[in-house]
Amino acid sequence: MIATSRAAFAAFLIVTAIVVPSAAPSSDVIKVREWRARNERKIVAELMQLVSLPSMASNKADIIKNADALTAMFEKRGFAVKRIATPGSPVLVADRIASPARGALTFYMHYDGQPTEAKDWTIGQPFTPSAFKAGAKFDVLAGTGPVDVDARIYGRAVADDKGPIIAFLAAIDGLLDAKVALPWTLRVVLDGEEEAGSPNFEAAMIANAATVRADLAVIVDSPRHPSNLPTVFYGSRGVAGVEITVYGATGDLHSGNYGNCIILNHGFGIQTRYGHLSGYAISTGTKVKRGQVIGYVGQTGRATSPHVHYEILLNGQPVSPVPYLTFTR
Ligand SMILES: [Zn+2]
Repeated sequence: MIATSRAAFAAFLIVTAIVVPSAAPSSDVIKVREWRARNERKIVAELMQLVSLPSMASNKADIIKNADALTAMFEKRGFAVKRIATPGSPVLVADRIASPARGALTFYMHYDGQPTEAKDWTIGQPFTPSAFKAGAKFDVLAGTGPVDVDARIYGRAVADDKGPIIAFLAAIDGLLDAKVALPWTLRVVLDGEEEAGSPNFEAAMIANAATVRADLAVIVDSPRHPSNLPTVFYGSRGVAGVEITVYGATGDLHSGNYGNCIILNHGFGIQTRYGHLSGYAISTGTKVKRGQVIGYVGQTGRATSPHVHYEILLNGQPVSPVPYLTFTR
């Protein structure tokens, strides 16, 4: 999960309302839960199958295999799947149209996983998902009854973000099995390069705004709340990347006493220092000429009023500036 695409997506679609399940589950919810309890192994098996498809955004052939598999998985549940081509991974838009519809709900998930190397894995392997319990390999699909909640499946993207895709599909299966009316058009947008910073997602969404616009957009790619309760977060802030270039002095300056400082190397062991500046007109490595503006007077560092601290050093030792200056009267 990284956040640039989420920020773009959130800015793009309007969140109008969020329904939080009430304390007493409805009979429909109970039916869906019962379906889930009967089908836990089937759900986990489908997750492991999806995780076994390598899905690093940098490998196009792998990504297409994931897109194909997901298309089949959504179509099986009555979704029509559209593939938006981009210069990178395709974005899949799966629609299950309700008619008449009260509105449309869009869910965002991503099908690429974080980059990984098999040799870095100490437990399991990235694309051979396997379950462990208390450190020992555990056949999570064996037997009957509920899946052991203490088993942990290791595999790339098992949680981020293929788990939520499978959870969503299982919820649809449960709702269909319980013959619950679905009066909302359900739309799932599947990003295939979220972990690569979604370089093409925003443009794809803008170009296909009419197809993805919804009354509510839900991002299903976030950390789980420590309470383990189903949680709806209102708003994802996203992430902002900033590159900062810092210019510093070319020599040691104690405790920042000189403030913003320029040191000029004149050759022959001679340096001049200009301290307490408010700003620079040149950057490190600039060759300067006599008369050129190199910086601006200020009072940064250890200064009580605006002035230029001017200093001449010969072989690193401060010397009297008088022999170096031309006085005009
Ligand atoms: Zn994610």
